[in-house]
Amino acid sequence: MIVPGDATATCWSCGTMRAVHFCSACGKVQPPVPVDYFTFFALPRKLHLDAAVLEREFYELSRKLHPDLCARADKREQEWSLEQSSLLNDAYRTLKDPIKRTEYLLRLEGVELEEQSKTATEKARATGEIKKQVVPPDLLEEVFELNMQLEELRMQKKLGEDDPALVEEIGKHKLELEKKYEALLEELKTYWAEWDQFPDDAAEENRRKVRDKMVDLLNRRSYIRNLVRDVNEALEN
Ligand SMILES: [Zn+2]
Repeated sequence: MIVPGDATATCWSCGTMRAVHFCSACGKVQPPVPVDYFTFFALPRKLHLDAAVLEREFYELSRKLHPDLCARADKREQEWSLEQSSLLNDAYRTLKDPIKRTEYLLRLEGVELEEQSKTATEKARATGEIKKQVVPPDLLEEVFELNMQLEELRMQKKLGEDDPALVEEIGKHKLELEKKYEALLEELKTYWAEWDQFPDDAAEENRRKVRDKMVDLLNRRSYIRNLVRDVNEALEN
C-alpha cells in the first residue's frame, strides 16, 4: 500500500508523490512496490467491477509501461517498466476473470483455498489416494447414480459391449451438471453483492459468513468440473 510519508511513496526522480506505476508530476516510471492487484489498478477491493473500465485501464497502462518506449534511456527505468508490465499482465489476467478474481480476493482475506488443480487431482488418482473433495449435498443422489452408470459403462467397454441407452443417460446427467456449473456464476454474483456492500468496519463475523459461502461455492464448482471430466473420460475411452 502506498502511504503518504512513506519513502517509497515519492518519485525517485523529482520527489513528488507518485502513483503505483508513474509519478503524477514528471510521469517517470517507478520501481515496483508490493501492492495487491486491486491497488495496482487503483480499484477498491470489491468483487463487482466494470470490465470495460478495467480493460481500458489495462491498455492505457500497457502502452505507458511498454519497456521499449524510446523516451526511456535510463537502464533502471527500462527494467522497472519490464517488471511493472509483467505485474500489470498478472493483475489484469486475475481481475478480469470472475472466478480468479474471487479466489484472489479470498486469498487476500486470508482464506486458504483447497488445491483443486488438475495436477493435484491426477496425482491423487495416480497414488490411489481418495480425493479429499466432499460431494456437495445437493448433488449426492445424482452423483451416486452417475457413478453407478459410469462403472457399468466401463465394464461394458471392457467386454466390448455397446449400450446406446446408457450412454444417452450419462449424457443427460452431464448436461444437467453443466447447467448447474453455469448457474453457479449467477449465484456467486449474489455473494459479491453481499460482500461489496460491507463498510470497512463491518463485523468480522458477517464477513466470514459471506467468505464461507463463496468458498463453498468454489468447492462445489470444482467438484462439478472434475466430475464432468470423469464423465468425458469414461465416454471417450
Ligand atoms: Zn516525478
